[in-house]
Amino acid sequence: MTETTQLEHESSEDAVLEYKDKMATCNSIERTDENVLAVSVDVEDWYHVPAVTGSSFSEFEDVHEFFDKWNDEYDYLTEPTHRTLDLFDELGITATFFIVADVVDNYPGLVEEIADRGHEIGCHGLHHECAIDPDTKEPRFTRKEYKEQIGTAKRKLEDATGQEVVGFRAPNAYIGGWVLDVIEELGFEYDSSVARNSLFNKTDSELPHVDTHPYVPKQNSLSPGGDRPLIELPWPFWEVGPVRIPTGGGPLIRLFGESVVKRGVVQSLDRGPSSFYFHPVDIARADFPKVGNTKRRPVYWLFKGETAEKRIRSLLTSVGTERCLPCGTTLQWWKSQHAQ
Ligand SMILES: [Zn+2]
Repeated sequence: MTETTQLEHESSEDAVLEYKDKMATCNSIERTDENVLAVSVDVEDWYHVPAVTGSSFSEFEDVHEFFDKWNDEYDYLTEPTHRTLDLFDELGITATFFIVADVVDNYPGLVEEIADRGHEIGCHGLHHECAIDPDTKEPRFTRKEYKEQIGTAKRKLEDATGQEVVGFRAPNAYIGGWVLDVIEELGFEYDSSVARNSLFNKTDSELPHVDTHPYVPKQNSLSPGGDRPLIELPWPFWEVGPVRIPTGGGPLIRLFGESVVKRGVVQSLDRGPSSFYFHPVDIARADFPKVGNTKRRPVYWLFKGETAEKRIRSLLTSVGTERCLPCGTTLQWWKSQHAQ
């Protein structure tokens, strides 16, 4: 680990001033002092999903086998990524783009454009491989293999954009505590993958105490209560009695609709800074090739396209675009308030 991290040395005062500015002009709903919304985008194509590649139940073993065997058009990502960038320009939002690093090779110029248009670049794996088995939750790689894989991804994204990449999101959000140790060794300063709720748990732990605001995880663990540089930015949920409904992102706003997700995001913002993410492919207009183990994901692309884009635009607008920040800036502010 470097001694001085980007979160510490780069303009934390500026981040706080920017935050205060945004809060001063933001009055669409009642809020506390801390409720910034970290907005992010997971940049991956249709064939990166686990039904097609990168998991134990995929149609193709990995992205390499997919490209060896696939002779048809594969790029369904460029169009909706441009649409996403235009949407953010229109709404005045700067976000974090967690990018699968092989996008650098297979979509020339796209990652560079995202950076040029002013957004934070984060890492979403090299080929979008699940770190743990979705069923058994056992690691799919040794720590050494995973470190090499993610180290390559980080360098590839940094070489393409000139940005230091300090944010990580685990592919498919399948994550274990050991993953955090590995990425911390690689120089990452935060992760945003932990989604603990009543409907699914994609982690290898029970995590009864994880809330929706940033926290410092223990070593080799996803549980709060650690003393280390790495910060976790978990996903929001809507707590209704004993039930926690996940409201983190694009697939959920497609499946549950805007009002459920908005309730979860607004409620989470009352607890502290929170997050919302979507994928460019959530708002893609084209129909994707019908390939892959759809038995495991029968409603995967339901309500994608224009419907999803309308819901996302409406959510961000009604929550308040002024409070939307990239993940890194959100955590910079949180750290300035909470770090000992
Ligand atoms: Zn993903």
